[in-house]
Amino acid sequence: MICKLCYCSEFINIDSDIGDYEYESSFGYSYLKCANCGLYLIDPLPDSNTLEKAYSGTYHAYNHQPSKFAQYLKKKYWQSKIKRCLTFVAKDASILDIGCSLGDFLFELRERGFKNIQGIEYKKEVADIARARWLDVLNGSTEDVKFKKIITI
Ligand SMILES: [Zn+2]
Repeated sequence: MICKLCYCSEFINIDSDIGDYEYESSFGYSYLKCANCGLYLIDPLPDSNTLEKAYSGTYHAYNHQPSKFAQYLKKKYWQSKIKRCLTFVAKDASILDIGCSLGDFLFELRERGFKNIQGIEYKKEVADIARARWLDVLNGSTEDVKFKKIITI
């Protein structure tokens, strides 16, 4: 395995045999941290069949018409994440949200003045919804893009 950010091949094992907490499925992945740049990733990276199973049409983040209360909770959630980010990320930073779903994080970043923001979303129909919000969202996987800086959540 090679780090997609700095191309280092040395990793620190954070956890092993992890699965998806939402669907309680065990995939046997390891959670690694790049010893050079600190990027966190899972190993092995899931293939397209695995992504398709994990991000089905019922995946909670794909609900683009939540109740008003759910909208309120989502906004509070993203505001909290951004407040943390603001302590270590400059507003002119390049930010790529991997698996950005409907673009809620990007939307909140844009509301706070971040301009160099982009998302990548695996599901085309979900990426289309994010793009309808005038967000710069690519449809594809991390294999499809090269990037310099990453913040993902
Ligand atoms: Zn790295």
